[in-house]
Amino acid sequence: MLIAGNWKMYNGPAETAAFCAELRERDLGGVDVVVCPPFVSLAPAVQLLAGTEIAVAAQNVHWEPEGAYTGEISAPMLKELGVYGAIVGHSERRQWFGETDETVGRRTSAALEAGLSVIACVGELEEERERGDTEDVLRRQLSVLEPHENLVVAYEPVWAIGTGKTATPGMAQEAHAFIKSLIAVPVLYGGSVKPENAAELLDQPDVDGALVGGASLDVDSFTAICRAAVPSLS
Ligand code: PEP
Repeated sequence: MLIAGNWKMYNGPAETAAFCAELRERDLGGVDVVVCPPFVSLAPAVQLLAGTEIAVAAQNVHWEPEGAYTGEISAPMLKELGVYGAIVGHSERRQWFGETDETVGRRTSAALEAGLSVIACVGELEEERERGDTEDVLRRQLSVLEPHENLVVAYEPVWAIGTGKTATPGMAQEAHAFIKSLIAVPVLYGGSVKPENAAELLDQPDVDGALVGGASLDVDSFTAICRAAVPSLS
């Protein structure tokens, strides 16, 4: 079971240091945990969480090792910092920053080749679900990915991200089973996961963890979600 916290564009270096100092004192129930701060906060997160079970990942990664790509960060640069992996293809990158299936595939391959772990995000828009196109969208988004021991897919229905609307456990299970029929990797659920709904979602047989946005920004709620992944603790 893997619980990942996507901090988005929150928590600069000082806030990150305070958050990690608090998080490392918590009992997270023994699940695999990863936090994904903004680039400028990766170094303090790596330092503060050294010697713990909590890993640190970036929110994006470029496909070239170096070059004239203003504003981008490469996999070897992340490795040098001691970062464990990267999120790739988050819907906010697809929506606002021109991310395409092709660039998601390139970023993922380069990161895996460099020895990073990757959380690759897929998920349908609300209108795509309403049209009955969810499986076609997932098939297209997954077509750029190959199974790899360090690859995890996050199913994040776009209509559920930051909206408070959560997929029902049944909807999540159905989508996860479909994804696993196409690619044999663990699948995290993301989309308004909170302490109140985490246990039921994580209890589904094909839900292997969660990618948590808003609720990962508070140490108490993130801790509660990690512990909800352990049935004996919830
Ligand atoms: C996310 O950013 O990946 C996410 C799922 O956000 P939230 O939990 O806030 O919906």
